[in-house]
Amino acid sequence: MITFDNLNENQRRAVGWDQGPVLVLAGPGSGKTGVLTLRVARLLEEDESASVLALTFTNKAATEMRERVDDLLGERAGRAQLCTFHSFATDLLAQHGSHLGIRSDFQHAVRDEDRIAILDDVIDGLDGDVPADRRSLLRLIDRLSSESYAGKGESASLAVTPGWLPPLYRRYCDALIEANRLDFGSLLSLATRLLREKPAVARVVRLGWTHVCVDEFQDTNRAQYNLLRLIAPARSHNLFVVADDDQIIYQWNGASPQRLQDLRRDYDLQTIQLPESYRCPPAIVSLANRLIGHNTRRIAEKKILAVRDPQVAYAGEVKYDVFASPPEEAKFVGRDIGERGLPSSDCVVLGRTTRLVQDAADQLRSAGYDAYVPVRKSEFDSPAANVLLEALRSANSPHDRVVLRRLCLAWEGLTGVIVDPQSVEAAATLFGGNFLRAWVQYAEAVAGGWKPVPQRIRTDLVDTLSFPAVVDWFLEGGWESWDRDDREESTSEEIATWKGLHEEIVAEYGGGVALNSYLQQLDLASKTPPPAPDALRCMNVHQAKGLEFRYVYLIGMAQEVFPSIYALREGAESRQVEEERRSCFVAVTRARETLTLTRSRSYYGYSKGPSQFLAEMGVASRAE
Ligand code: ATP
Ligand code: MG
Repeated sequence: MITFDNLNENQRRAVGWDQGPVLVLAGPGSGKTGVLTLRVARLLEEDESASVLALTFTNKAATEMRERVDDLLGERAGRAQLCTFHSFATDLLAQHGSHLGIRSDFQHAVRDEDRIAILDDVIDGLDGDVPADRRSLLRLIDRLSSESYAGKGESASLAVTPGWLPPLYRRYCDALIEANRLDFGSLLSLATRLLREKPAVARVVRLGWTHVCVDEFQDTNRAQYNLLRLIAPARSHNLFVVADDDQIIYQWNGASPQRLQDLRRDYDLQTIQLPESYRCPPAIVSLANRLIGHNTRRIAEKKILAVRDPQVAYAGEVKYDVFASPPEEAKFVGRDIGERGLPSSDCVVLGRTTRLVQDAADQLRSAGYDAYVPVRKSEFDSPAANVLLEALRSANSPHDRVVLRRLCLAWEGLTGVIVDPQSVEAAATLFGGNFLRAWVQYAEAVAGGWKPVPQRIRTDLVDTLSFPAVVDWFLEGGWESWDRDDREESTSEEIATWKGLHEEIVAEYGGGVALNSYLQQLDLASKTPPPAPDALRCMNVHQAKGLEFRYVYLIGMAQEVFPSIYALREGAESRQVEEERRSCFVAVTRARETLTLTRSRSYYGYSKGPSQFLAEMGVASRAE
């Protein structure tokens, strides 16, 4: 593990970096994330006036960084905000969004259905042939948001911008604000707009952070970069960025090699390279270098990845095998893990697509493995969790009809008792329009054995607003008295997941966190239960970014699967094939000890040959 004591010379220079913008440019496993984390801890320890904003892409990465910094300092690092771009934008808009007409209690529009309802309202009355498929319109809107589209003129990422699109985008963004629900894309574009249009707010934000850091910078899209520029505008800003141009794997979400060039253009940047891999053994470093050497669009001066300790070698570092069908391939993975006696928690099964790994996980489960696929879940499923969550939302936004409807639905799901939202709305006129107060009245009247629930909501969310009390009660087992006959294991699992998220939010925002911030952070988090400690994790390559595992199984190494058929259609030398190659590079460099590559002779009923990447890595099979 990387520590202050075992840094190499380049790493020491990066950790000791004080003033001015710097780019740490280095390959996988060279210690970029480690160096960034150590530097944050060092700054906070050495300089009492330092305050650090560190931006990452996933909640998991942010949480890990937070834990590491706290561990290093031996206390809670209060002067640091370690979070995702989205979480940063959320806090910013909650605090200062009123300048754009955004209320501090805004919610996140996480479900497509909610966004489509808003879209439907704004499409009416638009001139032009707006396509009927709402979901593809949402993807189009996301694309515009990721490029920081201003709502007029040509889009930078579309070949043709139809005439109806600019007004549609503008109206949609306005309607989000009107509905008090912001989608993920609009969080970034509105935060950017706020800092651009309100210099006083931008000044306050800039004064808040003496140092700004970004991990995995290579995958920032235009919107994220624009936001970063507004937080750290000076050419000489204390900006510390770590990146690897060979690991750009989010081109479809707006990432681009251009971004590193923009960074060089916009800042007086020094570059530190970390050319040694501490993660991968020699054979894996060699094949990864061979593979990525086939890409032509790379930063010329970046040093090639070298093995830190060539002495370290593991038996069978790289293996490759071919199977008749995907189930056979998956069964082999299970068998191999068993025969080698590997702890499942040290292994990962990686594949190009979620579908590939889902199918493999199904097979592995039938072979007795607790295979875990971390699919993002925006909402809880269990009625018990949803009753409390919607009650909290309603306490936060007492006049919100959508929330009231959901609360009634969740209540019906839990108790079987129908409370009609329209009647509640009508009754709410007696209570100053407060829907939750009216709902409690109704629910108590017809609750029967469930009465303690609305009573508790009344005490902690209506008569007084002491939401931590009701949440604590709920998470500490209070819900068990709600669910009697139909208590399900999945409910317990969801409550445990909520508890984990609750602890993270309280750790970051303190026990006195405001209800709006609490709900906003809960909205941003995935509600997927964490894996059991000994689960076998199966994930797509994108989810494995930044992670490492002792034993990596990379399945689906077939042509037209990895690289995908869509990329190949763009041409063998296309940007898309180069991105697939980078994804493969990311996948193989997750391995700390061994890499096992597999493929089936067919997928989804079509026969497939070996992936071109196998030959490019110099991997051959006896079985070919
Ligand atoms: P990626 O590009 O995949 O995100 P990275 O460059 O961020 O990789 P890290 O995850 O920071 O790399 O480090 C990779 C591994 O190497 C970690 O297990 C880390 O603890 C270890 N490591 C890095 N530097 C050292 C060091 N000087 N001594 C010992 N271990 C180290
Ligand atoms: Mg990293």
